[in-house]
Amino acid sequence: MNLEDIIQDAYQKVKNLDDQGKVASYIPELGHVDSGNFGVHISTIDQINFGVGNCYDKFSIQSVAKVLSLSLAYRIVGDKIWERVGVEPSGTAFNSLVQLEADKGIPRNPFLNAGAIVISDILLSNLENPKQDFLDFVRGISNNTTLEYSSRIAESEKAIGYTNVALCNFIKSFGNIKNEPADVLDFYFDLCSLEMSCKELSELFLYLANNGFSIQSDKSILSESQSKRINALMQTCGFYDESGEFAFKVGLPGKSGVGGGIIAIHPDQYAIAVWSPKLNDKGNSFKGMKFLEEFTTKSKSSIF
Ligand code: GLN
Repeated sequence: MNLEDIIQDAYQKVKNLDDQGKVASYIPELGHVDSGNFGVHISTIDQINFGVGNCYDKFSIQSVAKVLSLSLAYRIVGDKIWERVGVEPSGTAFNSLVQLEADKGIPRNPFLNAGAIVISDILLSNLENPKQDFLDFVRGISNNTTLEYSSRIAESEKAIGYTNVALCNFIKSFGNIKNEPADVLDFYFDLCSLEMSCKELSELFLYLANNGFSIQSDKSILSESQSKRINALMQTCGFYDESGEFAFKVGLPGKSGVGGGIIAIHPDQYAIAVWSPKLNDKGNSFKGMKFLEEFTTKSKSSIF
């Protein structure tokens, strides 16, 4: 079977499953999405582009954007970044506060909210116009000038973001936030509000399947070593306290978001994006996880 048939089959099989997940509604605007949406899109290094279902509809990528902010910060400050954030899985939920006290304000990894807030602080210190410069960076990766933030989603999260406010202030008390917490959080909520379709997401993330080099824009986004390391972090930390389960069942580096999106990377082969808004109790897309498990099993294309 070719990739397209395998995707079609896996899509049909998972589409009919009883979805035990729930749409995230702690950000009120996220709760308004049609929970029946389900899309998949693959982009391969040898230029196969194929999608099914709602693969052209834009959605809120939320924490998937943490990979993009990490990429830009790593590109700008290099290995000094690891003085401010760790590279270990946390075994805790995405918004957990519990380890920060013992770890003296150094978040375990850049994909926890705590870690992504520190990365936002680093970008704020290093970019002239953080919001615009970050958007330009993201657009430039795959030459897609239509990518946008959603002010509707960002405002909605800002109005209820008390846990993130607590995280940012707590980290600041240890000296690991250099800017004003309100400015850091504004930027963090904006970056989480990026919207795109599965097609745009798989095209955008192809640089991580290609040793840091973007095929669309013909430029290097990250060095080979940086790209390898970001894939390693996605493998070990991309799904919070379900990262082990994702490696066990899917076997690819990946990153999820509470909008129901997942991106997964097969180094040297492809990037695949899935979107289905209902989340399991760990905050990861229920159908997204099931689809990817079916896909890597049938295509025999996990990295293990
Ligand atoms: N913006 C979300 C938050 O901070 C991101 C969480 C996620 O996608 N896991 O709660």
